[in-house]
Amino acid sequence: LFESVGFIGLGNMGSRMANNLIKAGYKVTVQDINSNALKKFSDMGVDTKETPSEIAEVSDVIITMLPSSSHVNDVYTGPNGLLHGGNVLRPWLLIDSSTIDPQTSRKLSLTISKCMLKQKKGYRETPVMLDAPVSGGVLAAEAGTLTFMVGGSEEAYLAAKPLFLSMGKNTVYCGGAGNGSAAKICNNLAMAISMLGVSEALSLGQSLGISASTLTKVFNSSSARSWSSDTYNPVPGVMAGVPSSRNYDGGFASKLMAKDLNLAATSAKEVGVKSPFTYQAQQIYTDLCQDGHENEDFSCVFRRYFSGKDE
Ligand code: NAD
Repeated sequence: LFESVGFIGLGNMGSRMANNLIKAGYKVTVQDINSNALKKFSDMGVDTKETPSEIAEVSDVIITMLPSSSHVNDVYTGPNGLLHGGNVLRPWLLIDSSTIDPQTSRKLSLTISKCMLKQKKGYRETPVMLDAPVSGGVLAAEAGTLTFMVGGSEEAYLAAKPLFLSMGKNTVYCGGAGNGSAAKICNNLAMAISMLGVSEALSLGQSLGISASTLTKVFNSSSARSWSSDTYNPVPGVMAGVPSSRNYDGGFASKLMAKDLNLAATSAKEVGVKSPFTYQAQQIYTDLCQDGHENEDFSCVFRRYFSGKDE
């Protein structure tokens, strides 16, 4: 089923994911609009193409890992996009791992299911799309330990699982088209809000005279324990090896968190769900980026609350 895999979007995440597919033995052809990103692969002897439509001509399965919804739409439906050439498509499976809004994933999935398949006789009459965003940053992409959350047909998910497990260690099937994208933005929304909650509480604790390390010990053995307190603590010096202990360098950039919160806020509006914390978190991360912290890890939001009285 996977004689050849096309990979589009060779940035921080995609270059590492494509490398892991190559290591796993897949025949991979790659494309990116950035010629430097492409050259790194051609220098390794990997086949490269100039446009998504050329990738579609040689691939059974295609994976896209692009910055945002507009880039994904361009790659799929733009001039020289994957769907260029009418309703006939060689790939039988298209997987988008970008973090985008569920509405765009659903629209694309419908468009693709209307395309006819050429070459792969007998398997399917129409190609299918999976939205399969990932959790885990650049290090997890490099180590092949990403988590994939997947929306679309369950049959296609099961067929694609070996590909996911070449790039990650966990996969969760989330239901129909768009549900992977929905899971991703909800996960990051909860993570953003919990980071804000832990930051605010640790800051208040410091102002009340208890050190962040002691209060973290209390949280981590009590009901306030969370990933933001026990794995990714935002207060410098409380934990070793996390961004807060290296001046918020590396990690998950505030601008990416702001982007994901924009997706959550837009989705909440579209479905008419009350989401007061979503809008507040969106505002805080937007301000943080405008204040020049867009490339620092998102836990630098702690500084916003830090009173400076107890360090
Ligand atoms: P990136 O900006 O480093 O890479 C994106 C790549 O896509 C670039 O190489 C760019 O040249 C290429 N690209 C853009 N438009 C294109 C087009 N029309 N045709 C072909 N290539 C095109 O982004 P990234 O950090 O790799 O993130 C990719 C996606 O993964 C985003 O949606 C992001 O939100 C999500 N994500 C990122 C992280 C992270 O820690 N970086 C973690 C989880 C999920």
